[in-house]
Amino acid sequence: MDYISVQNVTFQYESQDDTETVSKKQVLNDISLEIKKGEFVAILGHNGSGKSTIAKHLNAMLLPSSGKVFIDGMDTADEKLTYDIRRKVGLVLQNPDNQLVASIVEEDVAFGPENLGIPSDEIRERVDEALKAVDMYDYRLHAPHKLSGGQKQRVAIAGIIAMRPDCIVLDEPTAMLDPKGRQEVMDTILKLNRENGITIVMITHYMEEAVLADHIYVIDNGKMLTSGVPREVFSQVELLKKHRLDVPQATELCYKLRACGVEIKELPLTEAECTSLLKEVLR
Ligand code: ADP
Repeated sequence: MDYISVQNVTFQYESQDDTETVSKKQVLNDISLEIKKGEFVAILGHNGSGKSTIAKHLNAMLLPSSGKVFIDGMDTADEKLTYDIRRKVGLVLQNPDNQLVASIVEEDVAFGPENLGIPSDEIRERVDEALKAVDMYDYRLHAPHKLSGGQKQRVAIAGIIAMRPDCIVLDEPTAMLDPKGRQEVMDTILKLNRENGITIVMITHYMEEAVLADHIYVIDNGKMLTSGVPREVFSQVELLKKHRLDVPQATELCYKLRACGVEIKELPLTEAECTSLLKEVLR
């Protein structure tokens, strides 16, 4: 079993109306994923396809209606293990304003370890280390609300890192950011994955971000549409288009050129690959 193992998970939200009638809404349908320690995984899909619901299953915020989720071998349905699971898997949400709680950056980052009951000298060490990891150490005494969107999101990530998780699940962490903020946050996520070995599960709408992942899962309407390494997933242009999903711009351009008769064997994923391919074609 891999570090994160989601096995045939089905999930229904239950809600009650004024007459106390319970209605159920099926959101996940037989979802399975296997994520290795140290991997960088992207989850793609439309709004409402169930991505956030999957994210919440990865740190026991939600429990499957049927099926199983294991984190490092621990069953999320076992309530005795919830605390341990949440220490291993940190969750970063879309809007950093909803995650920052203190009036000074370093206090904010200390909040998580304080709640874990970590001794204060170790908290100091963890806060400094976490702020350095996201390149926000120089801002440790600033007020979070005065930071840019990208800086706020990096502080929110530092708050999670300070709890020393094995894995960080990020639910559209760049959705509310401008291109510069997006780049800063992506650079931080890649560094945490490649240099610090933190397992990353990132939900995103940006295909250019998903291309950087080791493995992609595409969810459509609560079901797994396809999965694989980015090249496998984005070679299925027709399938993705049929489900109104995008492919990276470089892939799209060459897909259209190929449809016009230009001889292109393998579709590129990045601008750099696209440029060298077109140089060859135009020669
Ligand atoms: P995504 O992250 O892909 O946008 P979500 O997991 O947020 O999708 O939502 C999947 C579906 O579940 C949507 O139809 C959404 O309206 C519904 N949903 C999300 N949260 C709740 C909730 N707390 N109660 C009832 N339905 C919900």
